[in-house]
Amino acid sequence: MDATVPIRPEAKQGTIEIVGAGPAGLVCAIVLAKANRRVVVREWHQDVGHRFHGDFQGLENWSDAQNVLDELADAGVVADFDHRGATEGIVFDSHAKAHRVHGSKPMFYLVRRGNAAGTLDRALLDQARTVGVEVRFNDRVKRTAGNMILAGGPRRANIITVGYVFDTTMADGAWLAFGAEIAPKGYAYLLVRQGRGTVASCMFSGFRDQAKYLAATVAYFERHTGLQMQRPRGFGGFGNVRLPRTAMQGGNPVIDEHAGFQDALAGFGLRYAMRSGRLAAQSVISGIDYTKAWRQALQPDLHGGVVNRFLLNQTGPRGIDYLVGKLGSTDTGDALGHAYRLSLPKRLLLPLARFHYRNPLQDRSCSHNNCDYVWCQHGAHEVADT
Ligand SMILES: Cc1cc2nc3c(=O)[nH]c(=O)nc-3n(C[C@H](O)[C@H](O)[C@H](O)COP(=O)(O)OP(=O)(O)OC[C@H]3O[C@@H](n4cnc5c(N)ncnc54)[C@H](O)[C@@H]3O)c2cc1C
Repeated sequence: MDATVPIRPEAKQGTIEIVGAGPAGLVCAIVLAKANRRVVVREWHQDVGHRFHGDFQGLENWSDAQNVLDELADAGVVADFDHRGATEGIVFDSHAKAHRVHGSKPMFYLVRRGNAAGTLDRALLDQARTVGVEVRFNDRVKRTAGNMILAGGPRRANIITVGYVFDTTMADGAWLAFGAEIAPKGYAYLLVRQGRGTVASCMFSGFRDQAKYLAATVAYFERHTGLQMQRPRGFGGFGNVRLPRTAMQGGNPVIDEHAGFQDALAGFGLRYAMRSGRLAAQSVISGIDYTKAWRQALQPDLHGGVVNRFLLNQTGPRGIDYLVGKLGSTDTGDALGHAYRLSLPKRLLLPLARFHYRNPLQDRSCSHNNCDYVWCQHGAHEVADT
């Protein structure tokens, strides 16, 4: 991808094609259509949210003083998807000691992904269509051309998540747990709301043993939270952590995980995706420089995430327990916001962290040959070659 090539002048005229109907592409489309631009979203699969399975995700609300739902409202996006602010939860440190975490404002909003009514994806699709966006399904873009915005999602898998969605009689709640036996270099989570649940292991290495880690995760939450699953349905997905130097390709803006906009510490990519969609749309509408815009708005937190990941990998369980202790001892939303900020010591560490992650993270446990790991089932060989 090339950093310096400006957006083509003709991109400010005529129909704009957006490649990919994920949250980034759809937010971008909504902003453009509201500015009276003609927009076509081209989506490879037959519906939105095909990578997801009704699983709960957290739309983080800590990285900015502005509430994430207000940020969406400013972009013209209505929060008419099912969502629930989480102001408390339990985090287990690496010794399975429980720490109650809490925030004076929601730390994140629980949203559902997939194509069902009430999911984030379905709501964004409906809003896009209402403002006149044309969405073409079963339309895989194989070659990029002018007037495109690329929003194809992750290209590689260097984080994987495997889990179950299920029905349950458990009370609502949010739990997070750390431990090499349940999620190597990552974390396991359990989210329950109104009789539905999601339990998963989010791992940054050890992909070959995904089934073992998932089984250990379920057993862990059964032991520590009384997890009860009815009708468990397995799911899996992947994310792409990479520190982008540029987010332009052939004169076209690249947004979302396609550009590498992802939280390297924990994989909270949703807010980055939607923000970058808005920034790209604004760059087309008002002629602001997209490269300058994303570097100013997204890069500091991206850098903070990479330094955090570097620190966590270096310090292991001691670092995790320190972090969890901190999160539990104060307003957790504030502490998380602070943890992602690129403070002076982190700025100093950045070159080292960058050097460490100069190449995409790799998990060497997978050979990619006829294997059925998540990243091969859902992943690399299937990813768009735009
Ligand atoms: C299991 C799992 C759990 C997660 N949990 C969280 C969480 O709790 N919080 C959080 O913030 N983030 C989470 N993430 C990350 C988050 O889901 C992503 O960052 C987000 O979905 C990225 O949105 P997107 O628009 O970039 O891409 P996607 O949602 O992947 O959409 C990209 C779309 O582009 C389409 N496409 C690709 N190539 C082409 C092509 N050539 N032509 C046409 N269409 C194409 C794809 O079919 C897809 O529909 C999670 C990810 C996974 C996998």
